[in-house]
Amino acid sequence: MSTPVTRRDEIAAGLDDVRRRIADAAAAAGRSGDDVTLVVVTKFFPASDVRLLAELGVTDVGENRHPEAGDKLAECGAFGDLGLRWHFIGGLQSNKAAAVGSYADVVESVDRVKLVNALNRGAHERSHEIDVLLQVSLDPPGREGRAGADARELPALADAVDAAGMLRLRGLMAIAPLGEEPRAAFDRLAEVRASFVAERPDATWLSAGMSNDFEAAIGAGATHVRVGSAILGARPEIK
Ligand SMILES: *Cc1c(COP(=O)(O)O)cnc(C)c1O
Repeated sequence: MSTPVTRRDEIAAGLDDVRRRIADAAAAAGRSGDDVTLVVVTKFFPASDVRLLAELGVTDVGENRHPEAGDKLAECGAFGDLGLRWHFIGGLQSNKAAAVGSYADVVESVDRVKLVNALNRGAHERSHEIDVLLQVSLDPPGREGRAGADARELPALADAVDAAGMLRLRGLMAIAPLGEEPRAAFDRLAEVRASFVAERPDATWLSAGMSNDFEAAIGAGATHVRVGSAILGARPEIK
């Protein structure tokens, strides 16, 4: 009789596979796999999966919607219980940013000054500094639903983050546009990042790459990859 495959086995197999692919992509780029942090994207998956991920050695998880993110974190036993870093990676409305700032450890999707003060208020509420990435758009200007700042807006955004008080500027985040070879988009991102880091030598994080394109992102210098379905399986229909 064969042992039934548990959810834990499924997740462990997905994790093994992705970790191996990360190590291979890093090696191919002449980098160490240890320089790439895996952020497992748990949106639409239950808190029980988050617990399993923590048991399997995952250190960072990503959520893209408020209030789902905060609810799940609370269900996982409030702050720090699982020793996880919670990344908020989704589009942020300014009226929800203070709430997100009150529970996220890292906010990757800061793309306008208006969010900065609200996040800072949330961080104050919790007396906890937040790591911030500026989301830069790789879409052509004017594209519908474009998320992310224009590269030209980054210096002013970075200044606002510095001035806020409770926010630590760590680097940049981007999503490869649909309908373009990801490697081409990530090569543009690498250029934007090089000029950004020249001005901000401490802001070296680069969050780029998802299930379908994280190898290309690692080739272009990503320090953080955000991987969901390749580890947890297909998500239920996007609501
Ligand atoms: C959902 C999501 C991911 C993960 O997507 P997968 O294709 O499931 O790996 C990564 N980044 C962001 C911003 C997301 O919203």
